[in-house]
Amino acid sequence: MYIFKKIAHLQAHLNSKRKEGKQIGFVPTMGALHLGHLSLLKIAQKQNNYTVASIFVNPTQFGDANDLELYPRPIENDILKLQNQQCDVLFLPEASEVYPDNHQPCRIDLNGLDQSMEGAFRPGHFEGVVEVVKRLLDIVQPDHLIMGQKDYQQFAIIKHLINTLDLPVQLVMGPIVREPDGLAMSSRNIRLSEQGRRRATKISKALMNAQKEAKSLDLQQVKNNAIQFMKSEHLDINYFEIVDGNTLEKLDSFAQAAIVTACTTVQIDGVRLLDNIILKNEES
Ligand code: AMP
Repeated sequence: MYIFKKIAHLQAHLNSKRKEGKQIGFVPTMGALHLGHLSLLKIAQKQNNYTVASIFVNPTQFGDANDLELYPRPIENDILKLQNQQCDVLFLPEASEVYPDNHQPCRIDLNGLDQSMEGAFRPGHFEGVVEVVKRLLDIVQPDHLIMGQKDYQQFAIIKHLINTLDLPVQLVMGPIVREPDGLAMSSRNIRLSEQGRRRATKISKALMNAQKEAKSLDLQQVKNNAIQFMKSEHLDINYFEIVDGNTLEKLDSFAQAAIVTACTTVQIDGVRLLDNIILKNEES
């Protein structure tokens, strides 16, 4: 696997690969890699014959300096995982490379997509995400960009970015990879205490139950039952919303949208745990 820290070196390499006819699949990450990240790489490899992963803990998307500082950075291990997965290139830049002095942040109207759910709890977070993804896309210029359903709102916002600017890249959603007990894999899970880790399994239980109930109950009942269950398990819920999977607007009934997704974030041991489930999808 090639490891590049400098944009110029990465781009010279990728240009030569493009001339060989390679199609490039790109998986941006913040490292502390787990099977969720690696599943995205597998999708990239199925659809392309050259794969690039990036590891960059983007400071502009962290409102909380403590969260940025505590973010795990096991880089040697990450490199081994990518090598074992036959990733072709790792882009591993410093912040000064991604954001040089003359850097102009990408600002587009997000149509309110960034205001609800995560956006309401992390002001400025999605502006940072849009800024870094746009910058990385300009640098790597991939054919496919693979991102996880795990960060559902982030995915919707990047879809909006690509459509608004008509960027020449195909966005692909990778399904959520879960631990055997249902907890969505996350780089932050290692910060949970033993007891917190056990309680965290109730998040996916609530979502999977909501998926079952969505077949027979109305939206409000499904939502109330999920919230009641999570409260009975003493979970500190930041939000639990059932939204239009495209616009992220709150819904009153399942019939209102072609894609309906339940999104939640729960706080345990000071760690924000995001999860979601698609309750209905009439677009696929
Ligand atoms: P992060 O390193 O947290 O920025 O995540 C990098 C990418 O991996 C994002 O597109 C995430 O949505 C995706 N991702 C994170 N956790 C999972 C998971 N459990 N399953 C699948 N994809 C994931």
